[in-house]
Amino acid sequence: MQYYSLHNNAPKVSFSEAVIKGLAPDKGLYFPEKITPLPKSFFDTIENLDTIEIAFQTIKQFVGDEIPETELRDILTDVLSFDFPVVDIKENIGTLELFHGPTMAFKDVGARFMARCLGYFNRNNDNKVTVLVATSGDTGGAVAQGFLGVKGVDVVILYPSGKVSDIQERQLTTLGQNITALEVDGVFDDCQDMVKKAFLDETITDHMQLTSANSINIARWLPQLFYFVFAYKQLKSKGKDIVFSVPSGNFGNICAGIVAHKLGLPVKHFVAATNVNDTVVRYMKTSDYDPKPSKATISNAMDVGNPSNFIRIQQLFDNNFESLKNSFSAYSFDDNATRKAMKEVYSQNKYIADPHGAVGYLGLKAYGLEENEYGVFLETAHPVKFLDIVEETLETKLQIPKQIEKVLNKEKISVKTNDYKKLKEFLLH
Ligand SMILES: *Cc1c(COP(=O)(O)O)cnc(C)c1O
Repeated sequence: MQYYSLHNNAPKVSFSEAVIKGLAPDKGLYFPEKITPLPKSFFDTIENLDTIEIAFQTIKQFVGDEIPETELRDILTDVLSFDFPVVDIKENIGTLELFHGPTMAFKDVGARFMARCLGYFNRNNDNKVTVLVATSGDTGGAVAQGFLGVKGVDVVILYPSGKVSDIQERQLTTLGQNITALEVDGVFDDCQDMVKKAFLDETITDHMQLTSANSINIARWLPQLFYFVFAYKQLKSKGKDIVFSVPSGNFGNICAGIVAHKLGLPVKHFVAATNVNDTVVRYMKTSDYDPKPSKATISNAMDVGNPSNFIRIQQLFDNNFESLKNSFSAYSFDDNATRKAMKEVYSQNKYIADPHGAVGYLGLKAYGLEENEYGVFLETAHPVKFLDIVEETLETKLQIPKQIEKVLNKEKISVKTNDYKKLKEFLLH
């Protein structure tokens, strides 16, 4: 499998090169040259396949022969060592819980898969790769945990001081080994700007191989397609048309769902649910793509003003606005509506949704499910990751799961960084 740059101004590369580079030299996102649907029999008999077999069959064309079958199956077994249950909420609505991994957010699967792929590509050489990533909260923890102890990979995480939750901060500052957390005196956008600057700085890139671990990286992005196939396996016997509502920020998760659809997964419709950062929602109304700076909300992992993966979604629909509209809708909701939805699901169905899941639930309501449709909203993080907001909104106390308890009394270690010069010094030391 070859990958090309969506800016069409860079050479095609293999899977491993695309993973190691992250972004193409022309700054375009890499995209698979071809997506071949799986045989219909795969979906017809999916109930007989286990998680690893499903994952292997759906990802193998994207990896090609660069990771041999046995190693790829080992990687998948390691990555997918927890559950992805669909929990019924109402008559025709369920939630796909993606928070049973080590950091309790859905980014665990992508981060772990990318880490193990890079580890495999580095197995025989001493060339280090440095993963440089800015986080507004969840990415940092998942990347830190996913890459911990991976040979040949150093991880540098930039996070805004005082702007991430206590649990999120501990998840990314307490691991040590090959993981360093840089605590930036600023906001998320400052972290992001410093990372972008470093990728363009030849005085750095001439000395080291930098790569990114957010969803622009194909190894972070593509394995998320598993979720939608795992959900289908659980829902198939209902005999209904499935509508997925995906709480979206950078639109990587929903884009992976659309890739699963391209592989032949029966899905009736995709709903992108956003908070007030509504660039895509406005685009779907006007066909004018007009990104705005991000605004802070209670669903902070989706505070993205210019979603990087939307260009991939357009490509999946051959840049045809009408065909995009047939399969894809987008709705946005403010924090008030989000809190109301959290309360509604809790009082009516005794289910505790985190703010991101609640936005997904609202997406299904706005879409308006029909008689023969079953709606699934993705629960992208465990409510405990947004402890204060959830406890205050629902007026209840949450139990702290053991994955989280483990980090609560570990000591935070971070390197204070106040400007780009500091970052550069740190990288080149
Ligand atoms: C990252 C994240 C999202 C947004 O996912 P995208 O792939 O960026 O659209 C939603 N919810 C949570 C909890 C996240 O961490």
